[in-house]
Amino acid sequence: MGSGGKSPSVRGCGHKGVANMGGRYLVCLSLVMNVVLLTSLVYGRGHVRKKGREMVAGNQICLQERDGSGEEEHAKFCRAAGKASSCNNSSSSLPASPAKLPSDAIINLDHGDPKLFEAFWRDAVGKRGDTFIPGWQAMSYFSTNAAGTVCWFLEPSLEQEVRRLHRLVGNAEAAADRHVVVGTGSTQLFQAALYALSPPDAPHPVSVVSAAPFYSSYPLVTDYLKSGIYKWAGDAYAFNEIPRHERGPYIELVTSPNNPDGFKREQVVEGNDGKLVYDLAYYWPQYSPIISSIDADIMLFTASKSTGHAGTRIGWALVKDKEVARKMTKFIELNTIGVSKDSQIRTAKILGAISDAYERETAPESEKFFHYSRDLMRQRWKSLRDAIEFRGRFSLPEFPTEFCNFFGEEGSSYPAFAWAKCEAEEVDDCAAYLKANGILTRSGKHFGVDPKYVRISMMDRDDAFNLFIERMSKL
Ligand code: PMP
Repeated sequence: MGSGGKSPSVRGCGHKGVANMGGRYLVCLSLVMNVVLLTSLVYGRGHVRKKGREMVAGNQICLQERDGSGEEEHAKFCRAAGKASSCNNSSSSLPASPAKLPSDAIINLDHGDPKLFEAFWRDAVGKRGDTFIPGWQAMSYFSTNAAGTVCWFLEPSLEQEVRRLHRLVGNAEAAADRHVVVGTGSTQLFQAALYALSPPDAPHPVSVVSAAPFYSSYPLVTDYLKSGIYKWAGDAYAFNEIPRHERGPYIELVTSPNNPDGFKREQVVEGNDGKLVYDLAYYWPQYSPIISSIDADIMLFTASKSTGHAGTRIGWALVKDKEVARKMTKFIELNTIGVSKDSQIRTAKILGAISDAYERETAPESEKFFHYSRDLMRQRWKSLRDAIEFRGRFSLPEFPTEFCNFFGEEGSSYPAFAWAKCEAEEVDDCAAYLKANGILTRSGKHFGVDPKYVRISMMDRDDAFNLFIERMSKL
């Protein structure tokens, strides 16, 4: 640096000595960066304060809306902090679009990974859902909740946006008398519900059932820790055949619309001596007409399927009974000491962006997430039905037309999965047959039914989906 070990002064910035140029330049740059950083933080705070909805009083969560000035501010912050990696939540730091699949690629439609909505969240409209969280925020285990909130780690902004979105969509009762419990995905909430509903001191574990074909994770998640208080007991239809006095206590999982087949469901086990958990992961307008607002004791939802943000790992439960909500909260406290604040904040922003668009009178339909995503699902289902119709080697479920209260019109279902049956007599194992043709799916046997059935994800990116359609049309 400068001679005599002296620290460079601000005046040194004007010095043109070639030998010292590199060092001086860096120092100047660093000073300028600090000024920019301070300015952006000061300005940023003022900006956020103006946006009342994002700033939750007492909670000091700084969420910047990434339009206009927010965008510029964020970019400045990233440049000034000199840490691109910490700013990677900006889609501008990602490639414009993921690499295209080669035409001979194996297409993996086994998992229900909801990548098809990426395009919406990448473009100018979706950017309203971008989140920026300074390093010093959301550091505590605790949230500053309103009095009476059972779930002590629930971010107030998430609670607010969850209730707001359900009010907008009309799919579930989420008024203030329902308790919101947040989980690391609805997978954690499902386990929390089993824990909360199973008496700790019963002589036998409670039976957990769901009507076949049931979501393939239920048996695995229920039994992997060999709990002493609950156990997987299989198909709810079969359980219903057992005489009532022999059944013992049970919990029925009602998945509606169902994964894998997409049909709406009611409870199957007759009588009212069991406990019900409604898994409503897919009861959103892009997949199914919203025919009523469900009012069940425990209802599970997830960002994975509602908005496509599976990676945030956020789910929420709407719970009627305070004691049950308290026990679910206890489970999560013992399991993971709460749920990522960053993810909650991000999810709140995403849900808020969806509701905001519906409240903007002038917003075109392309900016409205459920209109956009319903149209996309409808197109995909049409492509699939067209592709397999001619050769008749596969069949798909037919869904009734129902009045959707949300769209205010009649519509059909466009599930997240296609539950396909191989009709060809020589094919017994449909998943193996498709695998041999470069398409990975999940066999019916994982859902408690015949391997002539497969579950195929309809949620991959366009290039994978288009390749899939091309291959199906030739089988
Ligand atoms: N329930 C159903 C019916 C699902 O299909 C899924 C995801 N495949 C889940 C729960 C789990 O969702 P999450 O990602 O929130 O854990």
